Amino acid sequence: MKELSSAEFRQMFLDFFKSKGHDVEPSASLVPHDDPTLLWINSGVATLKKYFDGTVIPKNPRITNAQKSIRTNDIENVGKTARHQTFFEMLGNFSVGDYFKEDAIPWAWEFLTSTKWLDLDPAKLYVTVYPKDTEAQRIWHEVVGLPADHIIKVEDNFWDIGEGPSGPDSEIFYDRGQEFNNVAEDDPENYPGGENERYLELWNIVFSEFNHLADGRYVEQPHKNIDTGMGLERVVSVLQHAPTNFETDLFMPIIHRTEEISGQVKYGDAEKTDIAFKIIADHARAVSFAIGDGALPSNEGRGYVLRRLIRRAVLNGRRLGIDKPFLFELVAVVGKIMNSYYPEVEAQEGFIAKVIKSEEVRFSATLTDGLALLNQLIATQKAANKTVIDGSDAFKLFDTFGFPIELTVEYADEEGLTVNQAEFDQAMAEQKNRARAARGDLQSMGSQNETLMALKEPSEFVGYDNLTISDAKLVVALQDGQEVKTLTSGTAELIFDRTPFYAEMGGQVADWGTIEDTNGNLLAKVTDVQHAPNGQNLHTVEVLADLTVGQTYQLAVDELRRRKVRRNHTATHLLDQALRDVLGEHTHQAGSLVEPDYLRFDFTNLGQVSAAQLAEVEQIVNEKIWAELPVTTVETDLESAKKLGAIALFSEKYGERVRVVKVGAYSMELCGGTHAKNTAELGLLKITSESAIGAGVRRIEAVTSKEAYQYLNEHDQMLQNVAADLKVKQLKELPNKISRLQQDLKDAQRDLQNIKAKMAQEEAQDKLHVVTAGHYQLATALIPNVSMNELRQLADNWRNQSQTDVLVLGTSQGAKVNLLVAVAKEAVAKGIKAGVIIKTIAPVIGGGGGGRPDMAQAGGKEADKLPQALQAAQEFLEKQD
Ligand code: ATP
Ligand code: MG
Repeated sequence: MKELSSAEFRQMFLDFFKSKGHDVEPSASLVPHDDPTLLWINSGVATLKKYFDGTVIPKNPRITNAQKSIRTNDIENVGKTARHQTFFEMLGNFSVGDYFKEDAIPWAWEFLTSTKWLDLDPAKLYVTVYPKDTEAQRIWHEVVGLPADHIIKVEDNFWDIGEGPSGPDSEIFYDRGQEFNNVAEDDPENYPGGENERYLELWNIVFSEFNHLADGRYVEQPHKNIDTGMGLERVVSVLQHAPTNFETDLFMPIIHRTEEISGQVKYGDAEKTDIAFKIIADHARAVSFAIGDGALPSNEGRGYVLRRLIRRAVLNGRRLGIDKPFLFELVAVVGKIMNSYYPEVEAQEGFIAKVIKSEEVRFSATLTDGLALLNQLIATQKAANKTVIDGSDAFKLFDTFGFPIELTVEYADEEGLTVNQAEFDQAMAEQKNRARAARGDLQSMGSQNETLMALKEPSEFVGYDNLTISDAKLVVALQDGQEVKTLTSGTAELIFDRTPFYAEMGGQVADWGTIEDTNGNLLAKVTDVQHAPNGQNLHTVEVLADLTVGQTYQLAVDELRRRKVRRNHTATHLLDQALRDVLGEHTHQAGSLVEPDYLRFDFTNLGQVSAAQLAEVEQIVNEKIWAELPVTTVETDLESAKKLGAIALFSEKYGERVRVVKVGAYSMELCGGTHAKNTAELGLLKITSESAIGAGVRRIEAVTSKEAYQYLNEHDQMLQNVAADLKVKQLKELPNKISRLQQDLKDAQRDLQNIKAKMAQEEAQDKLHVVTAGHYQLATALIPNVSMNELRQLADNWRNQSQTDVLVLGTSQGAKVNLLVAVAKEAVAKGIKAGVIIKTIAPVIGGGGGGRPDMAQAGGKEADKLPQALQAAQEFLEKQD
């Protein structure tokens, strides 16, 4: 057996299949591109669906790759089993209708056992096969020479995901020896493929030979495929004599850094803390890569998975005595380990760490609340003499506070309680069902369209330089999915040997236009253009007069539409660069739409884009337009393009020859679209909206040239109308005019307020009811709906004008009930005190109060008792000397 580092092993796998005629495809983004059915890329084949379902035919039918994958359904296994992570790499070799079992099986064997390659001990290898697949059994036994007792028939070995390709598979196991096992030698699960830790599944080879039809039948596929998946970490654990995937060069540096941060616990101290170390190391990789590929924590979908992973890591950190944010510090270690094949984590380290740290800080608050709830649950159950925590409560802790069930169980156990696991599982299953329903058919693939796949006639796109060509030969015509030779009417799909029509791609819409005969007679209108599986431009047309295959026609692209589209396309490149300039290099394109009348540009960014930033972006783009930058293109290979520094989309896969579009020295992107020749053509760019369209993804809409002019013109017209309404002659006077009007309005409102107050006072004066109470003149009034402030003003007025000795006022405003007592100077001198009166009468309205001898006030609750309160004041005075 070879002793290899993980990087050496990965390279060896790719080299082996390169030597067997395979092209190496780079790893695609973890975030599926153009595939709404998948939450994450979860296998090597997931990124190659388009080849297997026939939408695109690859240049070379033999492909090999090392693909980043995330499997959230393995979350609970991480740290518990030796062989599962959430994030792992899958190595694969693929045959798209090319070689089949008779090559795939011996090659797998050669790679595993040849002294030139891995040199594993054949005696330790076992395979499982589908019982009915006698062909695979024969090849393993007779061609490879594997003894019969190393070939195990397992009914499960049939790969079937519902409608689409399916077929038997063969799994290869490595016997790590009984000392690694978690079950006894004579346990019924102790066989390759059983639930045990001795026989490790390294590699799965799928022979996809059937098409599973919607009606349940299985028919042979026109093109049989090979699709294999080998877990990189598992093989590395074997090559590095590691008891689990974790004691390898892929994880140990992360674990060591975690030990340092903990400062108390070491890896190997105890089983429980070892699991925590493993979970943290796994999750650190998963979240670093996921964020690097454009996902961000949120409450739904992918973002929710990220959030859960980060929280689980934080909780496990507490088990190691770490109670400050720490996960973000592991990003640098992950970046360094993976850098040779996956530079994206190290390249974005600062950004990724920032996202993780802010999520960790956020969770701290929830964590404390969650622990508080858990403690409270435990206390309540204990007080009620119960020993079980409800499964629904445990689920709430899990779901709302991110507490994994094991942690809840552990906490409960320390207090002598258990958790109703069945109830929890039930709640969990219900949630999973909801999630599955929301996700739809996870891995569905379309069926192969044989007619389109069979079209091999070449077709050249000449539309970068020509909008009209007069010598296009019609080579294929399809009507209702059938090839035909002549057309007279209806819709049809056409392929020409050469075409100036652009097929929809990279966000840019298709060209429209006409098909004419050599005399200029209109024969058909082109309404759409898409790529056929073999790459030809397939024109959807409305047939108006006879067309015949083999004849030559004049193809003319609608020039105005194309001109508008190309301006907008160049505008998206300028926007892309300007956004990086203003918001930072972490921003990247998340989609775009280039229409004739407007453009849409989606990009990733944490948080909002301020109005000032947006204005700056717009300003930069316009500066570049006015600088009249030439737009040039060169064709080159992908490696050279990347070396030049061209921006490539993370989610996009490129062929070997790529087109690099340069806008002056300002922007350089890989792009197959059509562009303005000079930025001056754009005239002007105006951003019309900016908004969030998902977690961490924002959308700009903008217009250029004529549409920008129209947009501004409409706004100008609106202003002119406003100015006319306000009777302003010059627009520039408008702001002054508006602030004057606002000031006038404010003044008028204040005047009105004063008048109203005065009127209320006069009204109150009129309402004063004067009686003689003992030796004193008492004035009282009930005034509806005024504030205590207004009561005090009334009292001041009374003091200036009145002849009476004592004033008592009452009012109520909503639930608020108020009383005020004022006493004239002379009466105070005779010993009458406002504070004493208020203390006597306030209880009548259910309240209390106090104050000075000449003025006191009280609040209460019972408005309907106000008359009695006034009466009580009278009775009080009657008793005074
Ligand atoms: P297992 O039964 O061990 O979970 P699987 O049947 O789910 O494996 P496949 O779907 O056949 O695995 O994936 C192909 C290969 O990818 C496996 O043979 C294994 O080496 C690897 N693999 C699958 N899941 C994981 C994981 N969670 N972590 C690491 N490697 C994995
Ligand atoms: Mg599995």
